Amino acid sequence: MGLRLHNTLTGKVEPFEPLKPSEVSLYLCGITVYDDCHVGHARGAVVFDAFRRFLESRKLRVTHIRNITDVDDKIIDRARKEDASSGDLNARTKRVAEKYTGRFQADFKKLGLLPPTQEPKATEFIPQMIALIGDLIKREMAYETADGVYFSVRKLSEYGRLSHQKPDQMLENHRAETGDGKKDSLDFALWKKAKPDEPQWPSPWGAGRPGWHIECTTMSTRLLGDQFDIHGGGQDLVFPHHENELAQALGAKKPFARTWMHNGLLTINGQKMSKSLGNFVTLEEVLSKYPADVVRLFFLSVHYHSPVDFTWERMEEAKHSYGRLTAFLAHAESKPAATAAPDLSGPEKDFYEALEDNFNTPRALACLHDLTRHPSPKEAAGLLRALAKTLGFFQADAGVDDAIQQLVDQRDQVRAKKDFAASDRIRKELNDLGYLVEDTAGKTVVRKKI
Ligand SMILES: [Zn+2]
Repeated sequence: MGLRLHNTLTGKVEPFEPLKPSEVSLYLCGITVYDDCHVGHARGAVVFDAFRRFLESRKLRVTHIRNITDVDDKIIDRARKEDASSGDLNARTKRVAEKYTGRFQADFKKLGLLPPTQEPKATEFIPQMIALIGDLIKREMAYETADGVYFSVRKLSEYGRLSHQKPDQMLENHRAETGDGKKDSLDFALWKKAKPDEPQWPSPWGAGRPGWHIECTTMSTRLLGDQFDIHGGGQDLVFPHHENELAQALGAKKPFARTWMHNGLLTINGQKMSKSLGNFVTLEEVLSKYPADVVRLFFLSVHYHSPVDFTWERMEEAKHSYGRLTAFLAHAESKPAATAAPDLSGPEKDFYEALEDNFNTPRALACLHDLTRHPSPKEAAGLLRALAKTLGFFQADAGVDDAIQQLVDQRDQVRAKKDFAASDRIRKELNDLGYLVEDTAGKTVVRKKI
């Protein structure tokens, strides 16, 4: 297929060729589990879920890794604020991480997201992180100080390649990490030596914990190989997180991700979302007010690479837009079939071409709306439903369990043998179980009655 994607590394939209034909390796930075997910997290999650489904609809096998950062300064800070009588800091940190892992997984399930192929936790990869840090020290790309191990940024000539800036500019634009004995203020921590009460693991540099960036470089290369197809995340991760992930990989002579795909930022009523501004909207709140499909439509109505402004008015617009699609489907699907099968190859082609063009979902959604005006409504509705499912819509009525699927398969078999009595019997059985049955060319299609 002719998929073209914007690659942050080159700053261009370019043809995407996976390393292995028909397979795509995709790594996404997951959640740091110290608080509830907000709508900003939901945007990235929905965009990449729809993107993965689209790739799979084009017969590509996707290995999708999304990590869980379950050890981090923010989690430890949160644990410190918890009731100190309820165990030591280590136990409290674990409890905070487990609590918010459960909460985000429940939110994501409600949002209708496919579970990743693997969802590694940072704490499960500590020995592998220690090995990578050791390798960087051996190559003289990193050094130990009184409080940790740091990456030597000036030793890597490619540093700044992803975020398209020179190290001296970074010093002007960003606050550097503090640390005892750092050789350069841009150097960042690979390993942090622990204070006595903090969560810690033994290492050649004393007990401590990994830095955030080394977690992702380790998990992605261990699970996908030293080179893989796509690394994704929000625009806010480009610098320093992704720049540093790349630096660690290149420092260890690993080629790393070929395409870097970033979704634009999310503002709320034109402002950056923050707790101090009081405009923090959790995913849970949005999902308590709108069905998952409306949230999905809201996010996919804007190009993934552009910024998006979240307002409740826009959520209402998304609700109405979704309502127009479902009203058309309800109306059109009850109509009789056209006497001659209409040619719907044009709209289908336009839909896929939009998605192949740097995953242009607003244009693909416009194709779906165009189908609601097609002169053969029943057939257009069938195509609309199928195409929308490609992007993850209408999952509720797609969920046919195994028992139902068995009846559907049996019915197809008896119909093929022209045993219409048996076919009618199974139809009645499906009806009684709450499913509408439609006959298409040689195939039984079932839909849950609403
Ligand atoms: Zn990451």
